[in-house]
Amino acid sequence: CGITGCVGTGEAVSCLLDGLSNLEYRGYDSAGLAVLDGDGLSVCKREGEVSELEAAVDGEFAGGSLGVGHTRWSTHGPPTDANAHPHTGCDGRVAVVHNGIIDNHERLRERLQRRGHEFRSDTDTEVVPHLVEEFLAGGADAGTAFRRAVDELSGSYAIVMVVDGVERLFATRSGSPLVLGVDDDACYLASDVPAFLEHTDRVVYLEDGDVLSVEAGEYTITDGDGYHVDRPVRTVDWTP
Ligand code: GLU
Repeated sequence: CGITGCVGTGEAVSCLLDGLSNLEYRGYDSAGLAVLDGDGLSVCKREGEVSELEAAVDGEFAGGSLGVGHTRWSTHGPPTDANAHPHTGCDGRVAVVHNGIIDNHERLRERLQRRGHEFRSDTDTEVVPHLVEEFLAGGADAGTAFRRAVDELSGSYAIVMVVDGVERLFATRSGSPLVLGVDDDACYLASDVPAFLEHTDRVVYLEDGDVLSVEAGEYTITDGDGYHVDRPVRTVDWTP
């Protein structure tokens, strides 16, 4: 039910946890995060409160350069550690957080299972990392693989993805909220502005169908076909 993402902030884990705490008002039943550091992609997720996730992480991957966080309000599958986000595919190279519902997940799951993908959760979300893996295996770069995977989805979603070895976040939305926060050397993604307001008040409100590639202090927004789109950067005057 809540998404956070950050790149260029240094202490990715604490930034993600702070963001999730700022989104707690949205309600949730489990929480998780994925961070990229020198050792690769690490995922930690727990049923329950953000404080339980915090205890589970316990300073473990403190040096992460970028990552994604999630609080889940389950729609497909009970609140368990396995069903908590982020979700990974088969080889652990891709981690995805998602808010919303993927309506055609059953058909996609069957197709992916026929191609040998093993699923570890009951969620609709898990089809996304497996789809991305398929396109990566076919030779696509991470951005193209993401766009092709998103193209297969119907439903309502805000999605943010991390790929091992790629210093960017990939994101999109359709029918679920997602905003981009822009700072001089860092960028943030979240379902709502309070997640990153302590870092920046410069915000890009994304529209349905926007696909983002976000680096430290830099980003590009395209439509589903890869054509560049411009969205204004607004300075928010937020009084909580
Ligand atoms: N449909 C997804 C799930 O059940 C995401 C729910 C949410 O928006 O938190 O895991």
